[in-house]
Amino acid sequence: MMTQNPQVVDSALATALSQFDHAVHLLGINGGTAAMLRACKRELTVNFPVRMDDGSVKVFTGYRIHHSTVRGPCKGGIRYSPHVSLDEVRALAMWMTWKCAVVNIPYGGAKGGVIVDPKKHSLRELEGITRRYATEIALFINPSGDIPAPDMGTNAQTMAWIMDTYSMHHGYSVPAIVTGKPVNIGGSAGRLEATGRGVMFTVREAFKTLKWDFAKARIAVQGFGNVGSITAQTAYEMGCTVVGVSDIEGGLYDPNGINVPELQAHRKQNGSFHGYSKGKLISNEDLLACECDVLIPAAMENQLTRSTAGNVNARMVAEGANGPTTPEGDEILNAKGVIVVPDILCNAGGVVASYFEWVQDLQQLFWEEDDITTRLERIMIRSFHDVYDKSQQLKTDLRTGAQCLGIGRVAEAHITRGLYP
Ligand code: NAD
Repeated sequence: MMTQNPQVVDSALATALSQFDHAVHLLGINGGTAAMLRACKRELTVNFPVRMDDGSVKVFTGYRIHHSTVRGPCKGGIRYSPHVSLDEVRALAMWMTWKCAVVNIPYGGAKGGVIVDPKKHSLRELEGITRRYATEIALFINPSGDIPAPDMGTNAQTMAWIMDTYSMHHGYSVPAIVTGKPVNIGGSAGRLEATGRGVMFTVREAFKTLKWDFAKARIAVQGFGNVGSITAQTAYEMGCTVVGVSDIEGGLYDPNGINVPELQAHRKQNGSFHGYSKGKLISNEDLLACECDVLIPAAMENQLTRSTAGNVNARMVAEGANGPTTPEGDEILNAKGVIVVPDILCNAGGVVASYFEWVQDLQQLFWEEDDITTRLERIMIRSFHDVYDKSQQLKTDLRTGAQCLGIGRVAEAHITRGLYP
């Protein structure tokens, strides 16, 4: 069971710190090391002007945070959302550190964000925002020290603009500065699909380990962006029944199973689930409470909370998003016997494939998609068992097992390196 911090409010940082405090307590990590791991190493805030299409100038605020460099260069996405805050970026950077350690790739955690609603800007304005933000955070990013990637509200095109801006400042192409780029400028085959595929590799392995019938799994996915749509697509391809999907405007539920490729095509043409002839339209709250075997929150943090977790009608929650469950949500789910496959394990496929992309860029030698997916699958399966074994050994839930595994690996590396000076 999680120990509760009475000051916990539903914020990503409160969640991340509460999880951390619980894990270091169990691990018995000493004061100095725990204090070092609890704080972000470097934090940069930038305020920068961008010219809008109507000729006016608007000032935007962005962040780039390095949580840890103990196990290697910092790695983490860049988020564009009106809700971005310094504390949210801190939490996401910290989770990246534990995630990279859980899947045992040689990175520390970072994260960035800009307070902006990308839906309210033209492509030209988004390019201006991205290029200026990339220039402002050039103090922090470089291929050996901090390699950004996409997150909510950003995509391969955003990464292309960052790569081009950084390359223009250096006078030569630097593809290894970002991952999640388009394939034609040094991106990796299979990166776009990696997070969603990784979620389903993990869910399938969890079913196998628990001796549950994966072929009969009924899946519901919240969020239909990069992670959610590919997760739903992969579940469909693996033969599961996808009973529910949703995006910010609401969801669709069909107990007989949704034909995901057909729905994708409808959404592409019409911009939403509205008008699709099968299933019934439901609200996001209904989606979180719908009857299924696996609920996959793949939108954003703080979705399964003290007020929503009790309604969950699934045997398993597999976290495609970062931080979708608050500590109180966790307690409720644990008490109900719902297995929670935690974010720092479940959605790590994205950073694993980003690591492959970075290695390919540095070597200028590119792999086939099959190689990427096979290696990704192997790492996700191995990591699931590392986490499962840790949680069995500590007689605790999978989240605490994953946190202890990740934090323990970072602490060990810190002790091996010693304290400078
Ligand atoms: P995205 O911007 O591509 O998609 C986000 C989706 O969530 C959209 O469909 C949006 O409509 C939906 N959404 C937003 N608010 C919602 C709400 N209140 N209710 C329901 N749906 C809502 O973002 P993404 O890259 O898919 O990231 C989603 C989550 O996965 C984030 O938590 C992100 O940090 C995490 N994540 C992403 C990656 C990656 O490789 N992109 C990797 C690991 C984790």
